[in-house]
Amino acid sequence: MPKPVLDLSGQVALVTGASSGIGAATAKALGEAGARVAVNYRGDRDGAERVVRAIEAAGGEALAVEADVSDENAVAELVARTIQAYGDLHILVANAGLQKDAPAESMTLADWNTVIGVNLTGQFLCCREAIRHFLERGPQPSLSRAAGKIICMSSVHQVIPWAGHVNYAASKGGIMLMMQTLAQEFANRKVRVNAICPGAIKTPINKEAWGTPEALEKLLRLIPYGRVGEPEDVANAVVWLASDLSDYVTGASLFVDGAMTLYPEFRDGG
Ligand code: NAD
Repeated sequence: MPKPVLDLSGQVALVTGASSGIGAATAKALGEAGARVAVNYRGDRDGAERVVRAIEAAGGEALAVEADVSDENAVAELVARTIQAYGDLHILVANAGLQKDAPAESMTLADWNTVIGVNLTGQFLCCREAIRHFLERGPQPSLSRAAGKIICMSSVHQVIPWAGHVNYAASKGGIMLMMQTLAQEFANRKVRVNAICPGAIKTPINKEAWGTPEALEKLLRLIPYGRVGEPEDVANAVVWLASDLSDYVTGASLFVDGAMTLYPEFRDGG
């Protein structure tokens, strides 16, 4: 067996929600690893173009593609445009997500549906479209041992219940079993599906949790490793899961959380 490498040259990646935060860092990291990258965005064209320019400045190739991942036709078009531009698709990072927080007793059905629609149904639609392409094309051993790699952006809240965020926690819990089911269903056709579960990462989605010294101090009590995560911490894990270095890994949830899920309140004996 040839020695597996982190190099993604010749492969094409699609990252959803890539105009900011974790998605932007992931698109750049995949570009640096040699993949050509479709940078999906919704609304923030400037943000997406900045990511494209950063990838190009580092010697890579990228294009910005607008699509709402909760819209079935838009997702079909997003994948089709990626394949049209670069001839193929090998890596999907289903990253787009949002929060609409409220106490459960006053949460509107619209806010429930929006979060489930983007975070869970949106990931399913992207996975389904990518898997259709991976199955049709089959493996290309000169590029990768797998026919396709999917990385679902989940959260520590796929296992930590989160009061005041029932729609978000339900969407992430759903991603866990969606990811495992897809991994089980398609392993024999050489499609790998994994999830990354970030803890607290400094991005626009959770600025109120780290934006002031008081909030930061409170947050750090939950993170034994002693720092808030950076988008690059997650992006580096994505590159590994997209490469053949992780070829025997499928159906896994990789926690990138500075030990947040290790019951920090028990550090002193509980
Ligand atoms: P972010 O707000 O910077 O990124 C989310 C991106 O998704 C944005 O670019 C947004 O425009 C995009 N998006 C929202 N709705 C969309 C839609 N319908 N179609 C296409 N794109 C859409 O925040 P982030 O922290 O980078 O979040 C990225 C992912 O990481 C999310 O799935 C989030 O749940 C997950 N996550 C983040 C943290 C954290 O601490 N930041 C922790 C755990 C999980």
